[in-house]
Amino acid sequence: MYVDSHVHLQPHGERPPVDRERIELYVRVAQENGVEQVAFTEHLFRFREAYDALHGWWDECGDEPAVAAATRAYFDDHVNLSIADYVRLIEEAKSDGLPVLLGLEMDWLHGREEDLRRFLEPYDWDIVLGSVHWIGAWAIDTDDQAAHYEQWDVRDIDDVHAAYGGLQRELGASGLVDVLAHPDLPKLFGHRPASFNPLHESIIAAAEAGGCAVEMNSNGYNVPRGEAYPAPPVLERARAAGLAITLASDAHRPERVGERFDDLAALATDAGYDEFVSFEQRKPVSHALTPAAVERP
Ligand SMILES: [Zn+2]
Ligand SMILES: [Zn+2]
Repeated sequence: MYVDSHVHLQPHGERPPVDRERIELYVRVAQENGVEQVAFTEHLFRFREAYDALHGWWDECGDEPAVAAATRAYFDDHVNLSIADYVRLIEEAKSDGLPVLLGLEMDWLHGREEDLRRFLEPYDWDIVLGSVHWIGAWAIDTDDQAAHYEQWDVRDIDDVHAAYGGLQRELGASGLVDVLAHPDLPKLFGHRPASFNPLHESIIAAAEAGGCAVEMNSNGYNVPRGEAYPAPPVLERARAAGLAITLASDAHRPERVGERFDDLAALATDAGYDEFVSFEQRKPVSHALTPAAVERP
């Protein structure tokens, strides 16, 4: 059986009620998909408390006004939850015996480390994912806002990868997170630097510095590049460095929980792994990687 360590309760562009009924729906579908435990890791930018603490960061990055405005619009579009209510909801579900874990997908925002630390501090997390989605005010992974997507045409691809690797290293060094989520994200639209090695080295160095696991994320199959995160050479380096891996769907809808975990398990096995971890109370818990033994209903 699997643990899905990266699941969202709201799809982008939608704001369904986040309540007990929705949690139970995810758990039901997870179990149908061979997943025994679900870590809910909602995006930082869904929460009003984070919005208030971080507001205006997009204007401090020195990027074009149109890029900063697009990020502000993105934050305005997503914010709708209270972190205190979210934590209470998940904790009540846990104490009632539902197989769920309390998590967060934390954006690494250069220069805002202390705000992020203060945001995390009051809560009793099982797992905190660290994600680099933004280089400065530029959201590298969105193609529905022209101001962002056009940046891929005007920037040097090697520089983008170098900047992304530098941010990964900052994230690892912060010690704020348990897992590096989708660590080779810049590949998603199919752009290729002269060499992927410098980014791959940065990912491993970041995970080592932060004591982080490396996330295997099947949402990579659904983007133009069509490859799980991270690429096999990263997994091989991670294995050689003794780093743990987590399994993640990055589902934003219940039906995607546990999606293609057998494929992730096969990639991990090819790289020499025989176990994956989940996190409880921010401590890794090991599980055997035995795809053939997964029970399907
Ligand atoms: Zn993400
Ligand atoms: Zn996510």
